[in-house]
Amino acid sequence: MRWCLKGTFPPKGMFGETFTGSRLESANKEIAGGFRFAYFGFKADAKARKECHQFDRSYQHTQICETCLAEKPSVNGNPYMNYKDFFNTAPPLMTGLSHADYVSISNQVTPWINMPGFNVKTCFRDPMHTIFLGTAKEVLASTLGYWSKSGLLEGTSLGEQLKWFSHLQHKCCKENGLKGSFKTYTPSNTGLCSSNEFPELGSSFKAASIKISIWYFAKFAGELSMLNQEDFGLKLISVCLWSLQKGLELMDHNDIIFRREEAKAFDDHIGLHLQCWQTLAAECQNRSIKLFRMRPKCHYLQHIGRDVNRNLLNPRLMAACFYDESFLGYLKRIATQCHSSSMIKTRFWQRYFLFLAIRFQNSRKHSRD
Ligand SMILES: [Zn+2]
Repeated sequence: MRWCLKGTFPPKGMFGETFTGSRLESANKEIAGGFRFAYFGFKADAKARKECHQFDRSYQHTQICETCLAEKPSVNGNPYMNYKDFFNTAPPLMTGLSHADYVSISNQVTPWINMPGFNVKTCFRDPMHTIFLGTAKEVLASTLGYWSKSGLLEGTSLGEQLKWFSHLQHKCCKENGLKGSFKTYTPSNTGLCSSNEFPELGSSFKAASIKISIWYFAKFAGELSMLNQEDFGLKLISVCLWSLQKGLELMDHNDIIFRREEAKAFDDHIGLHLQCWQTLAAECQNRSIKLFRMRPKCHYLQHIGRDVNRNLLNPRLMAACFYDESFLGYLKRIATQCHSSSMIKTRFWQRYFLFLAIRFQNSRKHSRD
């Protein structure tokens, strides 16, 4: 990688061994006529991001963020640095660290520091894991719980209410041409079966279906809020979901670089979404209801909004791991169908190329139609 970044062939092997023949002849010569790779950014989910860079401030630590001093509430912690404050006056927002600050205060600096062009601010946060497989799962499940507790869903039991809502969502999405694998919500897959735990949608809900669900939840929340105008909680839920939906629409409708005003609008929508969520969380805590928990991913979502406002890069195209995860899913499904003794050497590759050939054939067939 180092030599690709330099643009020349290496003079020695990676263990210092001397080259012979054609490799010796090309040593120190240009690889691609003067063109060379350049480091631009790092894209991964939160776990890989933390492990590759050996961050000593991450979601697994009390101090949760490598680029600011936000921390989880704790007995010996600094209460002003609580990451659950998303209003513009929140102290953690005033402690943003530069790359030089990160290097000087970290016990363990990332090994990527040796990469020419590396900057800690180029470690992108993946919106797919942060939003669709993270914060949205919490907010949607809590919203269902709130509606159920307020008696706004039809049915005599929680199971019936969730089934009724699932049917409405499926029907409405179908009428609006939104295709997806809609799972029926149940007390167990929403985490609503126990009032002692915070609800969260289960792992069987995939990112693509969550994305469509956010749209439908926002629409339904708006209708409920109009019908029950005296209920402040329903208004907050409606604004919370609509602001998220508007932020997602900005990501979907923009190319790789945002215009300045749209980047600011994206940041504002994400900020409003988190502020409504924070107010709902406080309201539920006051009433001893376990809904609308705020996890460190909420703080990372805030950073996604602020990063867009700063660098104008569309996180959907720069940082989302949709295609990478989908590729890994194909690999896993193929590999588990091969016998372990021949999997790595032959069978896996044969089946993978067959899979690519079928996809290529199908795309050609459909393009003719
Ligand atoms: Zn932070």
